[in-house]
Amino acid sequence: MSAATTRKFGGREYVSAGEVASRLRLQLSWISRGRRLVLTGPAVKAELENDTRDVTINGLRVFLGDPVVDAGGELYVSRVDFERCLTPLLRPGHGVPPHPPLKTIVLDPGHGGRDHGTSALEKTYTLDVARRARKLLEAAGFKVVLTRDADVYLDLQERSAIANASRAGLFVSIHFNAIGNDRKTSGVEVFTFAPQFQRSTNAWSPGSGNDTEKDPAPVNRHDHWSVVLAQSLHRRFVYDLKAFDRGRKIAHWGVLRGLNCPGVLVECGFLTSTEEARKIATPQYRERLAVALANGIREYAATTGSANTKSAAASARPAGSARRAH
Ligand SMILES: [Zn+2]
Repeated sequence: MSAATTRKFGGREYVSAGEVASRLRLQLSWISRGRRLVLTGPAVKAELENDTRDVTINGLRVFLGDPVVDAGGELYVSRVDFERCLTPLLRPGHGVPPHPPLKTIVLDPGHGGRDHGTSALEKTYTLDVARRARKLLEAAGFKVVLTRDADVYLDLQERSAIANASRAGLFVSIHFNAIGNDRKTSGVEVFTFAPQFQRSTNAWSPGSGNDTEKDPAPVNRHDHWSVVLAQSLHRRFVYDLKAFDRGRKIAHWGVLRGLNCPGVLVECGFLTSTEEARKIATPQYRERLAVALANGIREYAATTGSANTKSAAASARPAGSARRAH
């Protein structure tokens, strides 16, 4: 291969797709030479395209932290995306210490008390979904802690402090979305905290500032497993709820910053969407949301080899899938 394996673009270090393929032991095939390619491995697939952050990985929409760049007939991804997005998604467990046994799960019902959230109902629905998911996860053998189990106000730091004091193995913050007077926009989003040096997905729009952070946040030590967890939840939300896939994104959410464990924030749907809000208002749909959440977490435990009970591991393994760490 004549193309360099690493290069700098705009002062940032990039790695060639060929190098990514060889390091992660994947097959590289061009769909359109120098523009679009796929990386494939056993049960994994990433489609990369030049000049975009919006890519498809394992059938799900994923936003990279930096755009893919083309040069000399080769595509390049930023080193941060290679290490903290593509590696966990395409080779979970590669290059990181083994995942400790997963015992305690902290669920964080967004908002509460004087903080209603995006609409008067967000804080009520987030608590309801968290309680339902707690029941399911306890039945699967996990210890579950809710950051709040009543309509009370907690600030963002208090929420991650509860997770750290509980020695949480993972943390999921539960939210619902809203967008002005838009009655049509719907779908789910799954967020992880932005890796150091990368900006929030939504900070790329024209006019918005550069919101990268100078120092890594405590939760950045868990970027790898946070991304694996995000994928498990993302998959269940998209496939089980048939929700529109708005993507796995990154953002500097204050509620995730201080965590000493992997953490994800889920946006379970739009309360401003006429159709989605109608569904979310029913206990049946909130139960389905809780089931998707609980199954995503159980799949994550199976993927990481950290399931703490036989029943959790056995019932979490979906038929015909091979998404264990390899
Ligand atoms: Zn919210």
